[in-house]
Amino acid sequence: MEKTVVLYEGKAKKAYGTSNPRVIWMEFKDTATAFDGVKKGSIQDKGRINAALSAHLFGVLERAGIPTHFIERADERSLLVRNLKMFPVEVVVRNAAAGSIEKRYGLEHGTRFRKPLLEYFLKNDSLHDPMLNRQHVVVLGYMPERKLARAEELALKVNTVLSRYMKRRGFFLVDFKLEFGEQSGRVYLGDEISPDTCRIWDAGTGEIMDKDRFRLDLGAVEEHYEEVLRRLTA
Ligand code: UDP
Repeated sequence: MEKTVVLYEGKAKKAYGTSNPRVIWMEFKDTATAFDGVKKGSIQDKGRINAALSAHLFGVLERAGIPTHFIERADERSLLVRNLKMFPVEVVVRNAAAGSIEKRYGLEHGTRFRKPLLEYFLKNDSLHDPMLNRQHVVVLGYMPERKLARAEELALKVNTVLSRYMKRRGFFLVDFKLEFGEQSGRVYLGDEISPDTCRIWDAGTGEIMDKDRFRLDLGAVEEHYEEVLRRLTA
């Protein structure tokens, strides 16, 4: 299958049409942004690494019964995925305190939560992705209640499956962001699963393995992304 016209271009990915209107070509870029787009840069080979890791982890999730948009690898940095109608909501799942929640509630870095914590954010750059509660999601019309309930059920299942998968490979899954969409009335997990969208710490040393290396200028970003890919696909 070949890519056709550009459908949209985001900060980390570019979507193309294909000959099948139900399928899109999702290309992963090397560009990286952080802090609401203020920090910009690129991470060498990130597109290839995130495409490979997303494909692999979507496969892991599919085998655990979670419907994802993933169909197959298209090339080194691209996937063929279902053309979903995306909900404009970012679903964040947290197992421990890091990033925005740390500052918002004054939590100690790394505090483990008694159970996974779900948060919702509106996907809207000009509004700086404001946080939503379940009422906002439903009453403001971003997702119907039944679809939200399904997305929550899937998000918690993704957390169970990925946390266990990563633990066996020596990582602690701190938090991650998911996006959902629908096709023919069915809810699917979309977007990507990569060190750009997850916080991953080495379970033994606590070493940061994810995009926080770019955000915080910790160095050796590519090497750590590559290490995550290597250990998670071994
Ligand atoms: N995240 C993301 N895209 C966003 C915002 C957050 O992929 O637009 C991910 C982020 O990498 C982390 C989790 O969601 O794994 C929680 O992020 P947080 O709310 O702490 O925001 P941050 O402080 O990282 O901007």
